[in-house]
Parts: sequence; structure tokens; C-alpha cells
Amino acid sequence: MKDELFSNYQPTAVPPKDCFRALRTPLRFLKGVGPKRAAQLEGLGLNTVEDLLYHLPFRYEDRRHIKKIRQATVGKEESFIGRLVALEKKFIPRTRRSILTGTLADETGTLGLVWYRVRPYIAKSLVKGQELLIHGKVERGMGAQKRMVHPEFESMESGNEEERERILPIYLKPGGMSLSSIRRWVAQALDEYCGFLPSFLPDVIARREGTTDLARAMAEVHRPEKIADIVSLNEFASRAHRSIIFDEFFYLQLGLGLRRKYRTTLKGISFTGDERSLTQKMSALLPFSLTGAQERVLSEIHQDMESPRPMQRLVQGDVGSGKTIVAWLAALRAIENGFQAVWMAPTELLAEQHYRNLKGFAEKLAVPIALLTGSLSSGEKRDTVQGIERGETAFMIGTHALIQEGVHVPRMGLGIIDEQHRFGVIQRMALQHLSGGRGASAPSLPQPDILLMSATPIPRSLAMVLYGDMEVSSVDEMPPGRIPVLTRLFNEGARQELYELVREELRKGHQAYIVYPLVEASEKLQLRDATRMARELSESVFREFRLGLVHGRMNSEERDQTMRRFKDGDVQVLVATTVIEVGIDIPNATVMVVEHAERFGLSQLHQLRGRVGRGKDPSRCFLVTYDGNNPDGLRRLKVMEKEHDGFKIAEADLALRGPGELLGTRQSGLADFRLANLVRDSRLLLEARKEALAWLAQDPRLTGKESRPLKEILKQRWGGRLELGGIG
Ligand code: ADP
Ligand code: MG
Repeated sequence: MKDELFSNYQPTAVPPKDCFRALRTPLRFLKGVGPKRAAQLEGLGLNTVEDLLYHLPFRYEDRRHIKKIRQATVGKEESFIGRLVALEKKFIPRTRRSILTGTLADETGTLGLVWYRVRPYIAKSLVKGQELLIHGKVERGMGAQKRMVHPEFESMESGNEEERERILPIYLKPGGMSLSSIRRWVAQALDEYCGFLPSFLPDVIARREGTTDLARAMAEVHRPEKIADIVSLNEFASRAHRSIIFDEFFYLQLGLGLRRKYRTTLKGISFTGDERSLTQKMSALLPFSLTGAQERVLSEIHQDMESPRPMQRLVQGDVGSGKTIVAWLAALRAIENGFQAVWMAPTELLAEQHYRNLKGFAEKLAVPIALLTGSLSSGEKRDTVQGIERGETAFMIGTHALIQEGVHVPRMGLGIIDEQHRFGVIQRMALQHLSGGRGASAPSLPQPDILLMSATPIPRSLAMVLYGDMEVSSVDEMPPGRIPVLTRLFNEGARQELYELVREELRKGHQAYIVYPLVEASEKLQLRDATRMARELSESVFREFRLGLVHGRMNSEERDQTMRRFKDGDVQVLVATTVIEVGIDIPNATVMVVEHAERFGLSQLHQLRGRVGRGKDPSRCFLVTYDGNNPDGLRRLKVMEKEHDGFKIAEADLALRGPGELLGTRQSGLADFRLANLVRDSRLLLEARKEALAWLAQDPRLTGKESRPLKEILKQRWGGRLELGGIG
């Protein structure tokens, strides 16, 4: 635990591969840890030496000013050094528990110490007569004496004078483990492994960004110098913190940039904008004029389509912002150039909905169109596939059946992936390769353009991480005349009023959604569940109405059947789990109740709410919460009452719950940082992106001398998640 170890530190000369091998040493092999402690640390997700090094203090305590006990101020957090002159364990009959009391004395006075919960390690490490440094909040005790409850403490026997007054890092730790054990192991890890922290960031970048090398940064965050600025440490904004964060962002952005560069070396199709036979006619058929945002996004798409490189563009926009028509116009551009366009939707119902909506236009434009889903009979399927494979069908809509059937689309020019977050990377890639036929990849063929669509708008910082390898367009304006969905929070007590409001809508001939977070009752959670409530409600409050139930554990045929009955108005109240989230369009549904709203993310609630307010009648959304006593939870949900802009809601969601909750775990892999935080550190992210792209601009394949270790680190850290295997 000597500071000199870090002050004369030399940047590592160890090759990156060996660095990672060393850093991935299991913690049980770190001196002093052992298998039992290692197992406890695993509970915090700390498995390797690297994990421990990145386990940064969540807070720093200022112990640079050790006061005399006489100067203790009630209400302040302070540090004192003294001798433990009394120590006593008392049994309190009323609570049937033991408490530990002590007295700390220096030459100016005494201070009472109290522990109401006596952890074994506390009792073990305190000895009467010992010299202690204690830290905590001073309180008023009995009589004139001041006291401290559950103070932090450490024995002074071993420490030298210098060691006493300092900034103390506080770590998250497993219960029953002392803070000083964690600090000892971290120091041990720094001693032995600091030289293996890969610090290869090129000098020019480090100088420009004012960052220090990783090893030094790591030493500084764990053992801040006495002169360090404690405020910036606590804000994770010290130079050391920024260096570690920059390092994390930089490699990810380098990887994303590399993927993007790789794509631009592939051959694509140059669609020309000269041929306007279909797009022009379509403009005349449109029942409305495009919004400014739609126009802008469309022209961004057209630019990509004209370029000889394959397009990979994500169009994000709120539910109802009119992405469908934009994608349809892009498809027509491909078709008027003599190519085929493929549209992939996540469910049969959505595929059918798009098919029905676009069929009218297609017929007027004489564009041959087909629907391909799993539920076609084998005869229908064969005919449809033949039409596509002969190149006669210009526009096809389908589910992943398109991929499963291994359809060959000989003149595929554009692939559209609707609700893209519902598909995995494999499925997206498979769509791209339909032109090769039967899953074969044919690199000699020009790659089709790909348009991804997402109705979950995400903040710019998150987009830079998740979609950093593609272009992103935002339809950030709603078509005119939308009536915002009136949103209100309810608690359990107002349930009858709530039901009455729903019944009122139903009597007017409208339809309702009631959404639950769960399918069935679970033993652990006292939650209302869809299955039980559908039964209960149909026998009581909604006796005179027709109810239907859909949830994720039904097979898709059952589910689609009920959804169709709801669409036809045969079912009036749809009890559902979140399976109704995706783009379903039923204008007659004017009211939605979300039960246990506190269990949903804001973006998810916004998605759900987007199922109503799609017709000309005003719609309402009622959010029922059960933990009315939790002010944070309520404040969070209140955002929904006021805010109707999906981008703003996503920002609030990201700030409040983090990317994992915002996106669902499936997609958040790339946003899993050790230290970086997309809200707090968005400016550093921007810097890292700029630097990474500039670096790639002068060394596109990372073959230069300084780039080689960068490439290795990139592979080690992000290779799997970024699927860099094929890029070499
Ligand atoms: P989403 O972006 O959620 O896919 P849609 O494309 O389904 O939204 O559009 C929602 C509704 O808005 C559709 O009924 C569509 O016809 C309509 N719409 C789209 N663009 C405009 C516009 N510029 N003006 C008026 N209505 C529009
Ligand atoms: Mg849509």
C-alpha cells in the first residue's frame, strides 16, 4: 500500500494479449483472497483481477482533516483519531438483540460510539485500548456527550502519520466483508497487475484529450493523492475517471467505425433518381402531404440509395410519426429502378396490416405485391415463392418465414426491417443475403440496401453506441392534427372510478386494452396477472362486454386469432401482456389501462400508449400504480402525464433507469460499460467518437505500428459483441 509504487510507474510494454491473460486471473488466486472470499465477491460480479480493478469507489470521504474531539460538530461528517477506552456489548431485552457501545478518547475529550447491528467482523476487529481512526456523522448523545452511530473505523497500529489524513475511497462490498479487506485486495491487485493494464492510446490523442494512461488513472482513482480535488472525484469527473471512461468509449467507437468502414468497401447498387415513374405517381396518390421530417428523412435515404455503397440506415421515430410511408416511397425508388424490395415484419398480424394498407397503392401503381407468412397453405406458399424467384413480384411483405423458406430474391435491391429491435443480428444478416439465395453468401453480387425501422426513439448518445456503425435518421415530427392521449395516474383506491370510465367508452361502441405485466400469478410477487384478471373481470365489472386474452405464452395462432377478433370489433376488451406493444393499428380502441405501471419503463409505457389515440376520437390512458408510497416511482410516472414526445421520454428513461431497462437486456450488450455512463459522460462519448473516426480515417484497416495493439485490444474487449470476426 505504498504510494511510490505508482509515482514512478512506467507505461506497460507487455503485448496486449498477455495483458488480458494476466488481467483475467481469477480473484481466488489474488494474494489474501482465497476461494471463500472469491465466492462472495462473485456475488457482486467480481470474478477476475480486471473486474476488481474496475470496481471503482462509488464515493470518496474526506479524511484529510482530522479534528480534535472537543471540536466535534453535531450534524457534520467528521474524522477523529483516539484511543478506544471502553468497549461493551449489551443485551437489550426489549429488542432481544445485542448492541455494541464504545468510547473514543483523545487529549481533548470523549466521543460515544454505537453499533446497533453488530456484524461479526466489527466485534472481531475492535479491541479495547486500541488506537482508532473513525469517520462518520456526529450526533447528539446522552447528556453533553456527542456520539457516532455505525462509524467507519480503522486501526491505527500499522499506519504511519502520512497515511492517516487522506481521501478515503468507499467501495460497494458484500455484506459482512470489511471495507479495509476490499481496499487491501485492490491495493494488492494494483501492486501486481497495474503493469498489465493495456495503455496503448496513441500519444497524440491522449495529449489532445488530456487523458493519462490507464494504469496511472487506475492507481489514482483507487488511491487518490492527498491534494486531489474531492468534488471531481465524487462526480467521476477527475482526470483519472475521465481517462478510464474515454478509454472505454474509444475502443467501442473504433470497433463501430471499423464495421462501418468495412461496409463501405462492399459493392452496392446505385439507384438513380432520374427514373421517377412510380414515386411521382405515388405522390399524387398520397392523401396528405409529407411532414418536414418525413421529407428530410426520405432525402437522406435517397442519397444513400444513389451512392454505390450498400446503405445501412436506421429510421427512428415515434409511434405514428409516419415511417411506413417513408419506407414505401424508398421501396418504390428501388422498384422503379428495376429491383425488388422486401419488407420484413416481426409478426404475421403486422405483416398482414402493412400488406392490406399498401395493397391499394400497389394496385393503382401496377406494382406486383405479395404476402409471405408461415400460415399460408403449402400451395399458396409455393406460388408466392415462385413469383418472387422468377423476379415477377416486385414488392413482398413477410415475417421471418421469408428467411426460413430460404426464398431467393434474384433482383433484391432493398430490404426493410420493421420494428428492427424484434430481430436478432443473424436474422438481419440473413435478410441481406436473400439475393444470394438458399442462404448461400455470394460476395460478388452487389449488396442490397437495408433500411431498419424503430418505433423506440432513443437519445443521441445511446444511438451512437448501439447504431454507431450505421447511419441514423429521425422522424422527429408528428403529422398534424394528432390529439395527444390524455394520461392519468390512478391508485388502487380509485379503481371503481377507473372501471366506470372504461365502461363509458365501451358503451359508446369503443374498445379498450387492459395491460398486465405478467401472464400468471407468481408465488413470489403479489401482482395481478392477465390470466386471472381476464376471468375475474369478465365475471364482474365487464360482465356485459366481450373479453379476449392474449399473452406471450400462447402460440402465435391463438394470439393472432384473438387479435383479429379484436380488430373486427368482436372482442371489446382486450386483456393482454406487453405482446400488444408492436405497431398494431386499431383506431376504434380509445382507452388503455396499464396495471402495475410502476413495473414498466417509461419508453415501454409510451409504446403501449401508442396503441390508442390512432383514430379521430380522443383517447385516454390510465396508469394504475400500487406503490403509491414511493415518491421516486410516482415522479417517474408523472412524466407520462405531461410528456408525449418519445424522444424526450426516452431521455428521461435513460437518465432514470439506464440503458438496460430502456432497451431490454437483449439489445443492451453494447451499452454495458464498466464505468462509462451514457447520460453523465455523453460529452466524452462524442470526443471518443470523433477521435476514433479520425484515427480510422488515416489508418482505415488499423495496420500501422501504433494501430496494431489497438486492434488487439478492440478484439479482446468488444470482438464478440461487435462480431468483428469476419472483418479480420
Ligand atoms: P409509424 O411511424 O408508427 O409506423 P405509421 O406509418 O403507421 O406510423 O403512420 C401512422 C398514421 O399516420 C397512418 O395512418 C398514416 O397514414 C398517417 N400519416 C403518415 N404520414 C402522414 C402525414 N404526413 N400527414 C398525415 N397523416 C400521415
Ligand atoms: Mg410502423
